[in-house]
Amino acid sequence: MVRTVPGRTERVVVVGAGLAGLATALRLRGAGREVTVVERAAGPGGRAGRVEREGYALDTGPSVFTAPEIVADTLGAVGEKLEDRLTLVPLETTYRAQFGDGSALDVHADPAAFAAEVASLCGPAEADALRRYLADLAELYRLQLTTFIDRNLDSPLDLLGPELVALARRGGFRRLSRHVEGYFADDRLRRLFSFQALYAGVSPFRAIAAYAVIAQLDIGAGVWHPMGGIAAVPDALAAAATDAGVTFRYGADVAELETSGHRVSAVRLADGDRLPADAVVVTTDQPWQLVPGLRAPRRPVYSPSCVALHVGVRSDLPGQAHHTISFGQSWRGVFDELTPGGRLLGGGPGGRRGKIMSDPSLLVSMPSRTDRSLAPDGGQVLSIVAPTPNLDRHSGGNPDLDWTTVGPRYRDEVLTTLEARGWTGLTGAIEVEEMATPLDWAAQGMAAGTPFALAHTFGQTGPFRPSTLPRRGPENVVLAGSSVQPGVGVPMVLISGRLAAERITGPVPR
Ligand SMILES: Cc1cc2nc3c(=O)[nH]c(=O)nc-3n(C[C@H](O)[C@H](O)[C@H](O)COP(=O)(O)OP(=O)(O)OC[C@H]3O[C@@H](n4cnc5c(N)ncnc54)[C@H](O)[C@@H]3O)c2cc1C
Repeated sequence: MVRTVPGRTERVVVVGAGLAGLATALRLRGAGREVTVVERAAGPGGRAGRVEREGYALDTGPSVFTAPEIVADTLGAVGEKLEDRLTLVPLETTYRAQFGDGSALDVHADPAAFAAEVASLCGPAEADALRRYLADLAELYRLQLTTFIDRNLDSPLDLLGPELVALARRGGFRRLSRHVEGYFADDRLRRLFSFQALYAGVSPFRAIAAYAVIAQLDIGAGVWHPMGGIAAVPDALAAAATDAGVTFRYGADVAELETSGHRVSAVRLADGDRLPADAVVVTTDQPWQLVPGLRAPRRPVYSPSCVALHVGVRSDLPGQAHHTISFGQSWRGVFDELTPGGRLLGGGPGGRRGKIMSDPSLLVSMPSRTDRSLAPDGGQVLSIVAPTPNLDRHSGGNPDLDWTTVGPRYRDEVLTTLEARGWTGLTGAIEVEEMATPLDWAAQGMAAGTPFALAHTFGQTGPFRPSTLPRRGPENVVLAGSSVQPGVGVPMVLISGRLAAERITGPVPR
């Protein structure tokens, strides 16, 4: 039986209108609770934000949108249909992978087209390996979803069962890099199916093979583009929640949770307003800073961070794909630079500090290729995400990098790299830009200056990741978001919203 909040839970205050907070609010409202969402920003979205300037609409957070069925399920909690709120366009080309040797591979959503592309670039044996790998990936995901991901886990014992045995049999606990090498001989395919470990904050040379499933979410099941940009997703969820009767308070900074005995009795805002509550859901990055009695994780390991550069350019940039993974020559070196000496990630404690990648691998998204509403005629919007060390020495990060001076230099370096890799004329065509460095993430309250929260090391995954219902602190405080189970990324935080709501309502039959 899943543990739940005892006593009255009629009035719930949700702190944060990011995707986790919105999902929680929809689930709770669907179960009949009176819900108020309190958000310090001027609108919904949190990390999935948007900046509009001079006719360009820049998504400042996620760019790769996967698993739309989870958004549909979330809207379904209040009887809404996804197609009434959002237009999703499936991408025929999930990614273009660009390699350091000058070759490129289009990852097609259609498995037959993808296999044909692999056959022509890497040979028929690799295409056969691809077919086997994709089938195994789908099975690995199915095995893990219900048992390990889409479920509140209170104890490691919750995992014991035939699925754990099946996962071990499939090699889920060996190294991801080994797992992928077991299928593919071509180094380019090995990279293509292991770079996703970085989304989970771990090196593929350290991660367990169970994380291979992240590639099921993008390469296996496909990537969509929400028309209007990814920020259209939180907009849609917030609109559905409002129509269902959820109250939103924007521009409202939660200063304190007031307690009475073992419970929180009210949420106090910075302007002095007080919102009485029977239960509170906290979705902030560091909930332990807000929740009295809640402890931060002991010896946390944080994900690498990133520099995110979003630009609007007056150029068509012909020939570029919606999403490009631009690999450098270096591969193992990328991870050695990003996370050296971090606990569980690289060498031993007291080791070296993280460095900026000397031969960077970058994710470049150009959503205006698919969605012309995002840029003026003759223009494009691009998001460039460059992984960097975070600011926490114990996670292999580097607190000594002075991002106020390193940031602008690194921006220039990234743009020069992209020009050399085929984005000719990009730099000179920039009309608007927004950049965030680890310093900015830290200023927004994110631990270790990373927007990717606690890394998915084995010790911070499943039952070992902070629970949605902490055992310490007030009994009526529930957590959601990327710092708790099941983890980081749009699909995971939407699931965390469901898990958090069920800590209040009990399991909802689906
Ligand atoms: C550059 C970047 C690229 C990314 N790329 C991808 C991707 O391609 N695919 C993917 O799936 N994921 C991606 N992610 C990760 C994904 O965006 C996050 O995991 C997810 O959006 C986190 O949602 P959340 O609701 O947990 O947190 P948040 O969105 O941070 O929501 C928390 C909210 O709480 C509010 N808040 C905090 N403190 C208070 C307070 N005291 N009072 C009131 N409100 C408060 C904040 O303002 C915020 O709105 C990316 C993230 C970034 C930044």
